[in-house]
Order: sequence, then structure tokens, then C-alpha cells
Amino acid sequence: MTATLIVGACQAGVQIASILRERGETGPIYLVGEEPHRPYQRPPLSKGWIKGELQPDDVILRSRDWFAERDIELITGDRVVTVHRAADGSGTATTEGGRSIAFDRLALTTGASARKLQIKGTDYHGVHYLRDADQAITLQPALADDEVQNIVVIGGGFIGLESATVARGLGKNVTVLEAAPRLVGRVVAEETSAFYLDAHRRRGMQIVLNARISHLIGGDAKVAGQRGSVTGVALEDGTVIPADLVLIGVGVIPRTELAYQLGLDVDGGISVDASARASDGKTVAAGDCTMMPNPYPLGVGGRIRLESVNNALEQAKIAAASLLGEDAEYRSVPWFWSDQGDIKLQIAGLSTGYDQVVVRGEPAEEKFSVLYYRDGQLIAADVINHPVEFLAVKSALTKGATIPAAAAADVTIPLKNAVVLPDSVPA
Ligand SMILES: Cc1cc2nc3c(=O)[nH]c(=O)nc-3n(C[C@H](O)[C@H](O)[C@H](O)COP(=O)(O)OP(=O)(O)OC[C@H]3O[C@@H](n4cnc5c(N)ncnc54)[C@H](O)[C@@H]3O)c2cc1C
Repeated sequence: MTATLIVGACQAGVQIASILRERGETGPIYLVGEEPHRPYQRPPLSKGWIKGELQPDDVILRSRDWFAERDIELITGDRVVTVHRAADGSGTATTEGGRSIAFDRLALTTGASARKLQIKGTDYHGVHYLRDADQAITLQPALADDEVQNIVVIGGGFIGLESATVARGLGKNVTVLEAAPRLVGRVVAEETSAFYLDAHRRRGMQIVLNARISHLIGGDAKVAGQRGSVTGVALEDGTVIPADLVLIGVGVIPRTELAYQLGLDVDGGISVDASARASDGKTVAAGDCTMMPNPYPLGVGGRIRLESVNNALEQAKIAAASLLGEDAEYRSVPWFWSDQGDIKLQIAGLSTGYDQVVVRGEPAEEKFSVLYYRDGQLIAADVINHPVEFLAVKSALTKGATIPAAAAADVTIPLKNAVVLPDSVPA
């Protein structure tokens, strides 16, 4: 019987285990996660969880019964620290808890961890990161505390803005400090960034762009031997922004320790091919920990690391197929969402290398789309509060179709009616 070891028990890891069983795999499957919790969804952490609206069962991915029924051995609260392998790819892994697991096939779904900000003062009490459930469990009551009124969020990416929105919704004074000249600049066009800036300022959030942070300031400890609490964020120009709580959201670092140990290629993530195979051709890897060939549009070239649930699930399907010895390649259209209070963003496709954008609708009305084109071909869209348009774009991209820019700009034409299929026959 073939034993499979999956290291990392979250979206990608659970998906691989699930597919292997669905496809009739009968050998032992070990799913090892270092976090003490059952596998859970991360997206609600920066939304409903820190708002205090959710219970653990609301975010858990699968019940205990689900794992038991599939005979998937879920090991939580233990970290795989070493992996020894033979030339045929089989091997033995050892966990921090001293457990030894023999396997024939190995999948790495180790995700990513929060990037730490290298400035003075991040060890003050009241300074938070938000990547995992334990951090969210600590952050939620701190946000709800009536004595915590001034909140500074460092980083104007999705997690920073989602958390800032929750804090603002709780009635706090919220300041977002973003080092770049615009919000979420790595992912969206200027038009979408500008919309977020206006929309959040309208809701009373303070946002500082091009922020140059010097260090965090804190008070003396009330108890000897303990660290004092954060009281402010000092900028390089001498400004001090008062803070009872600081949340740092400055991106993530892929977890590649085991890949290094195994001698696999690592380049800003575990390097995998379109079949989710690592450089040894035996190990598979999926999700946030991987750097993969750009999956969309086909033939565009380049490599990318995607941080999204959709990517973790889709790439895990391919990884499972590769473990089963099939030839599968990642070809689906990536998509993503971010909920910032009443602002729902949905992104279809990848905008990498765009040379034209069309803004459809009126951003001030908070219901509009930004469509991205390369060489006249639609490649992606950011859709704000308009799920119908998101579905139209996603469906068009999936078919390899386009929506001519002139038609996209005309709001009187429903997007789905403007789709032009690759053979130029209107849909
Ligand atoms: C607060 C927050 C909000 C988000 N919101 C959205 C959203 O709105 N939409 C969206 O699409 N995506 C969102 N994401 C991103 C999404 O959650 C991730 O893309 C997704 O969880 C990736 O899944 P994964 O399985 O690849 O990795 P992860 O979820 O990171 O899981 C990897 C697991 O592996 C474990 N691990 C690592 N090394 C070892 C080891 N050696 N031994 C044992 N275990 C190990 C880690 O502890 C972790 O539990 C959000 C993420 C966060 C943190």
C-alpha cells in the first residue's frame, strides 16, 4: 500500500487528501499540521472573526467525522522538522513531537507566515500580526476593548484594509500607514487603488500613503519583567501617531524550510511546474508556498506566487493528480475576493502585464468594474459590488473570449452580451 504524507493541514493539504480518497486511493494518508486547531479557513479571520461574529465551528474546514470517514489521519499541533528520502521518493519524516512517519509520496502544502516588520518596538504589548487563528483569537478581544481607541494598521494591502475596516466598524479611530504611493498597489490598477482610498476616507479612516515608519513607541511595563504597551507609531519626519493597538500586515513569506532541507529548488517559493511537481520530479507542492508558471493566460510566460483560496484548491487538484501519476496541468482562471465591510471586491484573471484599463461604471457609486487588457485582449477585471459582472468576466476568460474595450465602457450593454468568443462569433 502506498502511504502519502501531506505536510501542512489547511486549504491545499485538505484538498489533496480529499481528492486522493475520492479517486479511490486506499493507502494511509497522513495530514500533519503544526497549528493546534483542526484545519480552518483563514479568510474569515480578518473579517467576521475579529469582529467577534464567528465561533470556531464557523471557520473549521471539515468535521472530525469527515476525516474519520475517509480514514485520513489528521495530526494537529505537531510540526514536521526533518524529512529523509530515498532515491525513489519514499522516506521518513520526523515531527517535533517525536513521531516518525514513513511515506511513499510527499506533498508540501506549508503555506506562508506573516512577514515581520524590522523596526524597533514591535515587541511591545499591543502589537499584532494576523496570519493564523491564534493571532486572530488574541486580536479579537483586543480590538473590542473599550480602552483601545486608537488603532494603527501598518500596511494597506488586503488584510490590513479588511482589518482596518472591522476596527472602524467597531467605532475606533483607525489610521492605515502604507509605504507605497497607493493602496493594494501590488495587485490592482491605480483606478481601484484610488477607489479604496476615497471609499475608506469617506468612512472616516485616516490613510497615509508613502508613509515612512521609523519605530514604535511604548510605555513602561506595569509589571516588572514584562514589556510595556505600545503607545504610538513614529514616522521618519518626526510625526507620532497615537496607538493603543498596532496591527502589522506587510505581506507574507512562503514556508520553504522543508523544501530547502530536501534540496528542492526555491525561488521566492517552492518552485513547481504546471503539474505542481517540485524540482526533484517526485515531491508535489501546492498553495501559498509555491512559485509556479503563470497559469493564465496560457503562454504568457513568467512565474507567480498566488495567495488565494482558489489557487490553493485548484493547484491542490493538480498536485493530487500528479501524485496519482496522471498528467494534469494548471489551466484555470485565477480568481480572488476581498470583503471590506460593505465593499466586496472580486477579481477574475491576472492583470500582470496589462497595457490598457477600462473603468466601467462610476467608482463614486461604489458599484463598478475595472477591466484589464493586454494587446486588446481582456485578461482580468476588478469588480466592486457587482457579482453579475464578475461572473460575466470569469466566464468569458474561462472560454478564452474577450469583451471589446469599447463595449466594456458602455454601461448600457450588459457585459455578458458583449462577450466575443475566440472564433469571433458573438456569444
Ligand atoms: C487573514 C487572512 C485573510 C485572507 N483572506 C482571503 C480572502 O478573502 N480571499 C482569498 O482568496 N484568500 C484569502 N487569504 C489567503 C488564503 O487564506 C490563503 O491563500 C490560503 O489559506 C492558502 O492555503 P494553503 O493551504 O496554501 O496555506 P496555509 O493556509 O498557510 O496553510 C499552511 C499550513 O501548513 C502549516 N505548516 C507549515 N509548515 C509545517 C510543517 N513543517 N509541519 C506541519 N505543518 C506545517 C502551517 O502552520 C499552516 O497551518 C487570507 C489569508 C489570511 C491570513
